[in-house]
Amino acid sequence: MLDKFENKNIEPNKIANQWLSKARVKPTKQRVKIAEYLVGNGKHKHITAEQLFDLCRAGDINVSLATVYNTLHCFCSAGLLSEVIVDANRKFFCTRVDDHPHFFWEDTGELTDAKIDNFQIKNLPQAPKGSKISKVDIIIRLSKEIE
Ligand SMILES: [Zn+2]
Repeated sequence: MLDKFENKNIEPNKIANQWLSKARVKPTKQRVKIAEYLVGNGKHKHITAEQLFDLCRAGDINVSLATVYNTLHCFCSAGLLSEVIVDANRKFFCTRVDDHPHFFWEDTGELTDAKIDNFQIKNLPQAPKGSKISKVDIIIRLSKEIE
């Protein structure tokens, strides 16, 4: 979805406004600024609310952590972001909203997209009666190889 912005002159503010408008999210000043950090360079990003909050504080945006959370959840509800829960203390927001697996790098605490050539999920357990599988999250945890 962001790919069409690549290889063009990067205009973070314009990209952020387009990103918000395609989901009909009202472009308040704070939302546009936060969106610039998320998609302004035209590339996909994985970020925690705390990391985004730090970026805002280092920049010129005066927001609270609660506002950052609210904004991220607003973007999720609008279908602009997906949530990736790594563990009880770590939740990432991914700017890619299609189904895709992730690598979690245990040494650095980073989350990245895993390449999906020929990726298949087979023989998923059947959902219990009266329920259906709504989503399958795949997080592949990586650690350094010990030689
Ligand atoms: Zn992702």
